[in-house]
Amino acid sequence: MSIFDAESFDGHELVTFGREQKSGLRAIIAVHNTALGPAVGGCRMYPYASDESALDDVLRLSRGMTYKSALAGLPFGGGKSVIIGDPRKDKTPELMRAMGEFVHSQGGRYVAAEDSGTSVADIRLMSERTPHVSGLQQNEFGGDPSPSTAWGVFLAIRTAVRHRLGEDSLRGLRVAVQGLGNVGYYLSGYLAEAGAVVLGCDIDPGNLQRAVDQHGVIPVSTDSILATAADVFAPCALGAVLNARTIPTLRAGIVAGAANNQLATATDGERLQERGILYCPDFLVNAGGIIDVHHQRIGSQAGDKRAHIARIEQTLQQVLARADSLRLCTHVIAEQLARDIIDTAARAVAA
Ligand code: NAD
Repeated sequence: MSIFDAESFDGHELVTFGREQKSGLRAIIAVHNTALGPAVGGCRMYPYASDESALDDVLRLSRGMTYKSALAGLPFGGGKSVIIGDPRKDKTPELMRAMGEFVHSQGGRYVAAEDSGTSVADIRLMSERTPHVSGLQQNEFGGDPSPSTAWGVFLAIRTAVRHRLGEDSLRGLRVAVQGLGNVGYYLSGYLAEAGAVVLGCDIDPGNLQRAVDQHGVIPVSTDSILATAADVFAPCALGAVLNARTIPTLRAGIVAGAANNQLATATDGERLQERGILYCPDFLVNAGGIIDVHHQRIGSQAGDKRAHIARIEQTLQQVLARADSLRLCTHVIAEQLARDIIDTAARAVAA
C-alpha cells in the first residue's frame, strides 16, 4: 500500500527523515496539520524494532496531537518527532543537539517538547540549536506537565462515572491503573484522595512501590491488570493496549487513561462499544499536559491553567451525550468535533 493511503498517514502536511552521521541521529519529524498554529508535540526516543514501526508511531502520535490541541482549544497544530534509539544507551548531548538542528530545519513549523525517553535536560540541549522547543518554562512542578495530565484524566474519570453510573462521588469505586510512572503516580494520588480504591501495576518495581507507599495503591500483577474487576480501567503506560486480544478480557465498564493511541485500530473502538464499555477518547482526556505547556509559554497564572484543564469535563460530557444519541463510538464523535474546529479555522483564514 502507498504510504499516502495508510490509515496513519491521514493527510499529513509534512514528514521529514533526519540522519546525522557524527552523532548517529536517526529521527523522523511528522507535521500533521498546522491550520490552528505551529505543530507542537513531544520528541520521543525509543528503540523501535524497525524504521517502519517508528514511522507508524510518529504518524499516529502526530495525528493525535492535531485532535488533542483542537479539542483543548489551543492555538497549536499537531506534530510529533521520534528519535530511533535506546534512551538509556544511545542518548548523548551531541545526539540531542543534532536533533535540535533537525527541528530547526523545519523553520518553526514544528515545536518540540519532552516525551517518553526525553527529559527537560534533553530539550535544553536541543534549545542550544533551535528556539523551536517548548516545556523549558516553569510551572508549580518545575516544568513537568504530568500532574496536569493526571488532573485532566481524573476529571474525565469523574465525568464518565457520573455519565455511566450516575454517581457524583468516586468514593469506594475501584480504579485499575496500568503504569504508575509520571502520570499514573499523580493520578493514583488524586483518586485515593477522592476515596477511590486504586489498584495498580508497573513493570518498574520502584515506581510500583512509590505508589503503594505514597498513595496506598493495591498492587496487581501486570498480566492481570486488564482482567481486574474494576469500575474504571485507566491505561497510563502504553499505546495499542485496547485490541482484539485484550478487549474480550476487560472487566471494567469505563476506560479513561493518559496513554496515547490506546486503540490499536479504529475497529477496537467498535469492539468496546459492542461490549458496552464506555471509552473516553485518549486525545481528549489526556490534554492536560499540552494545556500546561501552553500556559507555561504564555506565562499565565495557575488558576487560569486549572480552569482551562477543567474544560475537558465539558467537552467529554458533550462527546458522551452525542455518542449516546447518535449511537456512534465516542472516538468517532471526538474526531468529528476536532475536525469541525479545524475546518472552521481553515475557512476563517481562507475568507
Ligand atoms: P512514564 O514513562 O513516566 O510512565 C509509564 C509507566 O508505565 C512507567 O513507570 C513504566 O515502567 C510503566 N510501564 C511500561 N510498560 C508497562 C506495562 N506493560 N505494564 C505496566 N506498566 C508498564 O510516562 P508518563 O509520562 O507517565 O506517560 C504515560 C502515558 O501517558 C504515555 O503513553 C504517554 O505518552 C502518555 N501521556 C503522557 C503525558 C504527560 O504529561 N506525561 C501527556 C499525554 C500523554
